[in-house]
Amino acid sequence: MGKIILTGDRPTGRLHVGHYVGSLRRRVELQDSGEFEQIFIMIADAQALTDNAENPEKIRSNVVEVALDYLSVGLDPEKITILIQSRIPELTELTQYYSNLVTVSRLQRNPTVKSEIQMRNFETSIPVGFFCYPISQAADITAFKATTVPVGEDQEPMIEQTREIVRKFNSVYGKTLVEPEILLPDNKACMRLPGTDGKAKMSKSLGNCIYLSEEPEDIRKKVMSMFTDPDHLKVSDPGKIEGNTVFTYLDAFCRTEYFEEFLPEYAGLDELKAHYQRGGLGDVKVKKFLNNCLQAELAPIRTRRLEYQKDIPYVYEILKKGSEKAEEVAAKTLADVKKAMKIDYFEDPELISSQQARYNG
Ligand code: ATP
Ligand code: MG
Repeated sequence: MGKIILTGDRPTGRLHVGHYVGSLRRRVELQDSGEFEQIFIMIADAQALTDNAENPEKIRSNVVEVALDYLSVGLDPEKITILIQSRIPELTELTQYYSNLVTVSRLQRNPTVKSEIQMRNFETSIPVGFFCYPISQAADITAFKATTVPVGEDQEPMIEQTREIVRKFNSVYGKTLVEPEILLPDNKACMRLPGTDGKAKMSKSLGNCIYLSEEPEDIRKKVMSMFTDPDHLKVSDPGKIEGNTVFTYLDAFCRTEYFEEFLPEYAGLDELKAHYQRGGLGDVKVKKFLNNCLQAELAPIRTRRLEYQKDIPYVYEILKKGSEKAEEVAAKTLADVKKAMKIDYFEDPELISSQQARYNG
């Protein structure tokens, strides 16, 4: 069997440059690589509701925003399937069955869920649905028999949880599900891009983002006020690269051709870093360069978005068709799961005759 991808995003806001380097850019490469039989990209609205239950309008309006972001980075609905999670009820059913195979203490140990609970001040009142979302993520991945899940580093514990569920299911009910592999970004800066505040990972929930659809002037302002090395006070002072957000962003976004275009006095990033560490290179110059790189990277994305924004009904049509196609695939997996779990009462002709035979002696 060929390789299959499942990945996705929560429609809790527009997508940001952390998504771009951590996942979206890679997805486009994978889409064009020809290595994958099928690629499913899911807008995880049901998952987004687990911590936004009282804010349904936010999720509803962001579904199309995320779809526009997908299309604007170059994901092509002719080559991939974009689906809305809640349109596939089979996923909920799978979640229910998998939840019998996971203990509460195992969920409590999940480091990503732990830190997300803290971040949302849920400590004393965790919604059950939120607590269990790693199980529903296992349903999403296995429903499409995904072999490969390209995501950021924060998703590692989720994929591990999925793999455990698959192994447990297959050992109890017989080999039915496919164990997926995580595909992390190859560049360390891209695994967990920090926010513009330099503190935590860039995340919609933290308001420390540069959005893909952001206006050029807003990008410039965000870059110019970015966190650098607090001890680098004078241009002549030696500066630190580690923990310096501007350099982390350059690691993620810079291309050799940007040096030729915007900063030809340096051969590349290593030379720029060395100069900063030695002293004599000011933050403003580095920030201006980063701004140029980001503007160059984001301009074509913004232009493509403006085109798609002119035809919103077409975008919804893509989502509808994709969800229908995805449901067919998930329904097949659910049938396999029910058969393996012996809850396929009417589909198994043997069952009725064998039950009859018991009474016929
Ligand atoms: P939320 O705050 O609602 O959780 P988010 O910004 O964390 O939103 P998600 O929709 O949870 O975004 O994540 C979607 C995908 O993007 C995941 O694969 C995740 O690993 C990746 N991702 C999110 N933020 C970053 C980041 N800062 N750096 C790299 N990858 C990221
Ligand atoms: Mg997240």
